[in-house]
Amino acid sequence: MVSKKRLMATLATSVALAGAGYVTVNQVVPQVSIQQTAKASAINDYIAANNIKPVSIQNEEGTFDQWFGYSNGVGKPIGVVVHETATPGASARNEVTYFNREWRNAQTYVHAFVDANEIINIHNTDYGVWGAGHTANNNYVQVELCEVNTTDQFARSVANDAYYIASKLIQYNLPFTPGKTVVSHDDISKMYGETNHNDPIGYFNNWGYSMSQLYELIGQYYNNLKNNGTTDGNGSTNGGDDANNNTGDKDVIGVTQVNNPDGSYVPIYMFNEDTGLPEKQTVRALANNTPWAVAETKTFNGHVYYRVSVKEWVMDTYSQYSAF
Ligand SMILES: [Zn+2]
Repeated sequence: MVSKKRLMATLATSVALAGAGYVTVNQVVPQVSIQQTAKASAINDYIAANNIKPVSIQNEEGTFDQWFGYSNGVGKPIGVVVHETATPGASARNEVTYFNREWRNAQTYVHAFVDANEIINIHNTDYGVWGAGHTANNNYVQVELCEVNTTDQFARSVANDAYYIASKLIQYNLPFTPGKTVVSHDDISKMYGETNHNDPIGYFNNWGYSMSQLYELIGQYYNNLKNNGTTDGNGSTNGGDDANNNTGDKDVIGVTQVNNPDGSYVPIYMFNEDTGLPEKQTVRALANNTPWAVAETKTFNGHVYYRVSVKEWVMDTYSQYSAF
């Protein structure tokens, strides 16, 4: 049972998991194992020991008006580039303000800035940015890690960075392949020779951290997001009274628990804007036994459909709906 009061209280935090609870249709979820000889990471241990959880991704479109798709097309990056700002004392918010004002002069813009407290995405990641030379700009999502001052802040900032990166891999149905689908700016400089930056290596060194340790963290988040829709390994935050609110609406009208007893996922429908007909989506679906906030219902051909994201609907066949 879902009580209104508790649900409303948890919706806000569940927005942090936008995208969680989705599954990819017809694709076996890979179990990522990081085969490496990285030394144990005190920072990653600290994150686990203190149960540090990443914050939610804030999407706020910035001022960058150069809209170009990737080499493979709009919405088709091949991976994520990890940067570090090299600007001591500047928070993610400071950097966002600066680059929104100065990108024309600086001739630089990236998709997101991350610090200990915030993940701020400022350009739709379906399109490229100017962060690491022509080839990288036309192929990768690019995120900047901000410099912080304490071990606790550093741990929180890399947790946020790893979560952002894992979320983007999942958003674009990319596998997690360290050194391929996730690379440092240092890797990019060596691969393409178009820039000479080697971030975030030096900054990581200052904290006794390394890319392979970051990969370990990304791998954890990636697997947990894929398998449980969560950012920890301790079961699902999608159970109980939590619901995913991806509807884009603040005022949701109810919640639906979705399940497909005959399949491994619940199909999503989108209504064709020309014909008005519901069309079953082939790329993604909802995970079984997950709760979703509902913003709207409508009836078509004898079935009730529940809107669970901006344009995605589930059928009554797979829904146990409770109105508020
Ligand atoms: Zn860089």
